[in-house]
Amino acid sequence: MPETERTFVMVKPDGVQRGLISEILERFENRGLKIVGAKFMQMDRELAEQHYAEHEGKPFYEGLVDFITSGPVFAMVLDGQDATRQVRRMMGDTDPAEAAPGTIRGDYGLDLGRNVIHGSDHEDEGANEREIDLFFDEDELVEWDKIDGSWLYE
Ligand code: GDP
Ligand code: MG
Repeated sequence: MPETERTFVMVKPDGVQRGLISEILERFENRGLKIVGAKFMQMDRELAEQHYAEHEGKPFYEGLVDFITSGPVFAMVLDGQDATRQVRRMMGDTDPAEAAPGTIRGDYGLDLGRNVIHGSDHEDEGANEREIDLFFDEDELVEWDKIDGSWLYE
């Protein structure tokens, strides 16, 4: 079995309201990513401000915090080989208008401010583990062996 890593993924309030949780989760499951944590929750402002701290001061920041706290989100931790980068590839460009068809944002979104999903940035070293720590306690994550491991990995 190869080295795997965990990444943090979240269906945003627009994706939840539009009933896209199961379709999005299905893509990750079909790809072979292993769910090790999942939580349906509503973010408070403090959590939103921590999560999006890198964007503080930008013109879209206040609207982003308002939006992300406006309704429930579906947060999850996925584990797999190169998981952080592979999830970002499946999500597509930040702006759904530029995201390739076949990606989640390219298939389900039209507007930058309503782009359906968040995933840890693979270009930001350690962002995946930081975000997992922010949203999940260690005892909310499950270690388990998926029966198809030897069929997914060489
Ligand atoms: P991501 O990592 O692909 O989600 O993109 P960023 O880290 O650059 O931005 C975080 C989130 O802020 C994005 O997913 C968008 O929801 C939002 N966002 C980023 N840039 C803009 C912008 O120019 N306008 C608006 N309205 N929202 C933005
Ligand atoms: Mg980002």
